Amino acid sequence: MIPYGKQSISDEDIKAVTEALKSDWITQGPAIDEFESKVATYCDVKHGVAVNSATAALHIACMALGLKEDDLIWTSPNSFVASVNCGRYCGAEVDFVDIDPNTYNMSPDILAEKLEQAKAEGKLPNIVIPVHMGGQSCEMGKIKALADRYGFKIIEDASHCIGADYKGKKIGNCEFSDIAVFSFHPVKIITTGEGGMAMTNNDELAEKMRVLRHHGIERGTNADEPWFYEQVELSYNYRITDFQCALGSSQMNRLDSFIERRREIAQKYTEGLVGLDLQTPFQHCETESSWHLYIIQLDDEKRRAEIFKKLREKGIGCAVHYIPIHIQPYYKSLGFKDGDFPISEDYYSRAISLPVHPAMTDEEQGYVIETLKELL
Ligand SMILES: *Cc1c(COP(=O)(O)O)cnc(C)c1O
Repeated sequence: MIPYGKQSISDEDIKAVTEALKSDWITQGPAIDEFESKVATYCDVKHGVAVNSATAALHIACMALGLKEDDLIWTSPNSFVASVNCGRYCGAEVDFVDIDPNTYNMSPDILAEKLEQAKAEGKLPNIVIPVHMGGQSCEMGKIKALADRYGFKIIEDASHCIGADYKGKKIGNCEFSDIAVFSFHPVKIITTGEGGMAMTNNDELAEKMRVLRHHGIERGTNADEPWFYEQVELSYNYRITDFQCALGSSQMNRLDSFIERRREIAQKYTEGLVGLDLQTPFQHCETESSWHLYIIQLDDEKRRAEIFKKLREKGIGCAVHYIPIHIQPYYKSLGFKDGDFPISEDYYSRAISLPVHPAMTDEEQGYVIETLKELL
């Protein structure tokens, strides 16, 4: 089976992890700071706070921004459930903003309309979480302008897109957000096994997130009581290990080559699939995707199911991203229902993610393209 996504681990990576394992620290040592500053420097942002998943990063980002019971977050229905669960962990209410049918990202126009309505009803969101679907940035300039007007905070769910660009700069630089979050799960762009990082330019938010990833404990600075520490609020153990960060730092050395290879694969798909009865991904002119996903759309739900099944039978590990979050049973139990976000639902019913990862060979990709030509 050609997987839709997969890590690429080099001998250098293995060496870096081995060295970390042989060092004095296998957790909470120097490899964490090193990895954080490497990612922050790459993104041209002040701080990176590494944790054991993007899910944890989203959670401490919400906590650091003060999200609490009965507050409100909005995100895209077209995402992984973690994008919205972070709000529920804080006891907040959640709602969704439907997507732009071209980019599959949160639509700034629908967001603007929904904000106007919410203002009239006195129910504006505290935080909006745009998700950069498949590696293509949302229209952050427009979303930031709305944040300035309506007073909400922004967390970018950038799980798909370390290495991608928006308006010529790296995503994660937080020019248009309070915090941006990366995932280092093996199918994402670089990996630490499990892991994530929250980026921010705000010193106070960075410090809060460092405390929140470690039980809400602040280290003392009292010279008379060097053992002193203080738990100032209730939090969790979201720490990442040194050997994971050693892997992350080593992977960072190949980030640009990963992105280059993914862009090359995407271009080959787009050229190779010309003339077939399917829709290839639209790219907004302000963005340069990391191509975490290469998503095609078929004519309808029936056709999608048929092609998906046949691709799998032929050893092509395609996938579907995403089942809209609001139709998950848990979110239905909160009152959401089929039809609430029709653009996301229509998109979902016709989408297939084709395999794309840096270690995929030209032969493998050629086979995927030939198979689609046969089937369509
Ligand atoms: C993978 C992913 C997450 C969660 O990442 P983990 O590191 O597995 O916790 C969150 N949001 C999106 C959009 C993702 O794709």
